Amino acid sequence: MAGRIAFIGLGNMGGPMAANLVKGGETVSGFDLSEASCKAAAASGVTISASVRAAIEGADVIVTMLPAGRHVISVWTELLAEAAPGTLLIDCSTIDVDSASKAHALAAEHGCLSLDAPVSGGTGGAAAGTLTFMAGGSADAFSRSEPILKLMGKRIVHCGDAGAGQAAKICNNMILGVTMAAVSEAFVLGEKLGLSHQALFDVASTSSGQCWSINSYCPVPGPVPTSPANHDYKPGFSAALMLKDLRLAQEAALSSGATTPLGAQAAQLYGLFEKLGHGGEDFSAIINFIRGEQAG
Ligand code: NAD
Repeated sequence: MAGRIAFIGLGNMGGPMAANLVKGGETVSGFDLSEASCKAAAASGVTISASVRAAIEGADVIVTMLPAGRHVISVWTELLAEAAPGTLLIDCSTIDVDSASKAHALAAEHGCLSLDAPVSGGTGGAAAGTLTFMAGGSADAFSRSEPILKLMGKRIVHCGDAGAGQAAKICNNMILGVTMAAVSEAFVLGEKLGLSHQALFDVASTSSGQCWSINSYCPVPGPVPTSPANHDYKPGFSAALMLKDLRLAQEAALSSGATTPLGAQAAQLYGLFEKLGHGGEDFSAIINFIRGEQAG
C-alpha cells in the first residue's frame, strides 16, 4: 500500500485507473471539474473531494490524468503550493515534452519527486488494468511509482530521465499514425488492383509488411474480427487523439531539430480528416478518407 493516493482527472482514462487503485487496496481521494466523472469515480470507491487542494490533503502520492500540458502545469502549480516535500507526483497524461520538463522542474523546486508516465492501451486497457506505462524520471521516483503503476498496468518501462516517457509515447504513436496511413494506402491500392482484402492481409501480415496496424488493427473489415473496421469504426483510439499525438510529435521534432517528413505528412492527413468532422471515429477510419469516401 502506498499510503494515501490523490487522483486528479477522473475522465475516460483516469476514472477506471483510479478504480483499479481502489481494487488494489489503496485509499484514493479524487477530484475532477466534471460532475459526471466524479459521480462515476465515487461509484467505484474513490472518495471525491471538493477541490484539488482538498483531494491532496495528507496524500503521499498524487496522480494526474489530464487533457494537455497547460492543464498539467496549472494543476501541478496549484497542488505543489500545498504538497509536503517528498510527495511523489506521477503525471500519466499525454503532453508535450517541454511542458513535461517544466512540470518536473516545478516539482524539484518544491522538494517533490516526479515521474512522467504516459500510457498506451486506451480506455479498454485502463478498465482492465493492462496499460503500458512509459516512464521518465529519477531511479528513486521510478522505484516508488512502480508498485502503484502495476495496479493499473501490466508493463512498466523506465525510459530514462525526466521527459523520457513522453518522448517514448509520441515516438511510438508517430510510428502508429504513419503505419496506419501506409497500411490503408496499400489496401486501397490493392482494391484498385482487384486484390481481395483477405489475400493482401494473408500475405502482408506474415511478410515484411507486417506491423501492429495490419496484424492487430487491420483497417478493413474481415481479416481481424476485433478491429474497429468491423464495428463502424467506433473507437478504440479516436482520430482526434491520434492527431493530438502526431501534433505533439511535430512540436517535439521542431524544438529538437529532428527531421520527420512522414510524421508531418501523417499529422496533415489526420488534420484534414478531423476538419471534415471525423475526429470522433477510430483512427483506422483514415482508410475511408484515403479511398475518397469523405466526399460522399
Ligand atoms: P478526458 O477528457 O476523458 O479526461 C480528462 C479529465 O480531466 C476530464 O474529466 C476533465 O474534466 C478533467 N480536468 C481537466 N482540467 C482539470 C482540472 N483543472 N482539475 C481537475 N480535472 C480536470 O480524457 P481522457 O481520454 O481520460 O485522456 C486523458 C489523457 O490521457 C490525455 O492526455 C490523453 O491524451 C491521454 N490518453 C488517452 C487515451 C484514450 O484512449 N482516451 C489513450 C492514451 C492516452
